[in-house]
Amino acid sequence: MRITVIGAGVIGLSCAHDLAEDGHEVTVVADHGPGDTVSALSAALWFPFAAEKSPTVDRILERSLARFAELAGQASDAEGAGADQVTDDIPPVEMRTGTVFERATPPDRSWVDPVVAVLGQDAVHPVDGGMETTLPMIMMPTYLAWLMDSCRIAGVRFRWEKVESLAALADTADAVVVAGGLRGGELLGGDEEVTPIRGQVVVLANGYEADDEDGADGEEDGEDGADPGVAPLTRWATDNDHPDGETYVLPRVDSVVVGGTADVGSWDEEPSAETAEAILARAAVLVPETATLPILGHGVGLRPGRTTLRVEQVDPTDLPSVGVPVIAAYGHGGSGVTLSWGTAERVVELVDGL
Ligand SMILES: Cc1cc2nc3c(=O)[nH]c(=O)nc-3n(C[C@H](O)[C@H](O)[C@H](O)COP(=O)(O)OP(=O)(O)OC[C@H]3O[C@@H](n4cnc5c(N)ncnc54)[C@H](O)[C@@H]3O)c2cc1C
Repeated sequence: MRITVIGAGVIGLSCAHDLAEDGHEVTVVADHGPGDTVSALSAALWFPFAAEKSPTVDRILERSLARFAELAGQASDAEGAGADQVTDDIPPVEMRTGTVFERATPPDRSWVDPVVAVLGQDAVHPVDGGMETTLPMIMMPTYLAWLMDSCRIAGVRFRWEKVESLAALADTADAVVVAGGLRGGELLGGDEEVTPIRGQVVVLANGYEADDEDGADGEEDGEDGADPGVAPLTRWATDNDHPDGETYVLPRVDSVVVGGTADVGSWDEEPSAETAEAILARAAVLVPETATLPILGHGVGLRPGRTTLRVEQVDPTDLPSVGVPVIAAYGHGGSGVTLSWGTAERVVELVDGL
């Protein structure tokens, strides 16, 4: 079938990839390239941040985790030791150990079931203050570049333009997949269940080298006056129930993403200096090394929040002028990367069932 996928974020690209691998003729149409999407801002750790709890979502979580673990295995085999160097043809995904700090009583451990189902009982164990586990860290935005290359290799074509109406696509497609993130509902006549969840982050350099000069750089120096430097971080930490706001430290390869906020209903895309300061203060308590890491930048992304994840065929009577089947794949909130491959597999099932 000829399939048009609207969206070049992690959901659109994952769907396009799997549809092309399934033998379909796939075109992605998007008005923002992968590097300019909310997906690019994501840290990203495989972890269901406030994800809907249902058997369908559990299945999607498990399938995504299995696929990312597989990609991490490929990267590790290619690199020998699974080290940090990433090249274009190796998936920028690594299994990394970290701690999920817990404050709620009882803590929300719903994320443990899919982890144990895919990675086994040994993948999770209690530690002081929470649970230690080893999960895929997906190095955005490098991963999106790799995913786009993988799409091209699978035969996917790309068109960079805004889709104003689905009806205009009917001549060139046998089915359409709407993976438009926060704007996913707009092309489907509106969706009142969609709401932005604003996330602000600070991006830090991941480590820096020792400086033998005596305090010349103005950084805090060691006993002998020299700055001892900071080795690259690999361990991650999350403290999502922190009373002052969700807090996480997620090291990529060259950078560390620290966050965050989850402002439901906020459309403000400007980073706030005051919020950044508060994020850095909370992060420094969680991982003290972050206090000395140079700041590379600030970012804000609007997560595509929805009361429930929407991955389904849209009722054709709701879209009488479109003329071809339409599949909705949006509303992934704070877990779009975490749910991406499972969403793609579900979309392939829906297309194959048409
Ligand atoms: C600060 C922050 C941290 C996060 N951390 C994590 C994390 O650690 N793990 C995790 O799993 N998730 C994380 N997320 C959530 C994740 O980033 C999102 O759930 C995910 O990016 C949503 O992907 P998407 O492809 O649906 O949407 P997007 O990435 O927003 O992509 C939407 C695409 O649709 C296109 N589009 C929309 N409408 C049209 C139209 N009419 N015509 C043409 N193109 C259109 C856009 O151009 C774009 O290409 C984080 C989010 C934020 C903000």
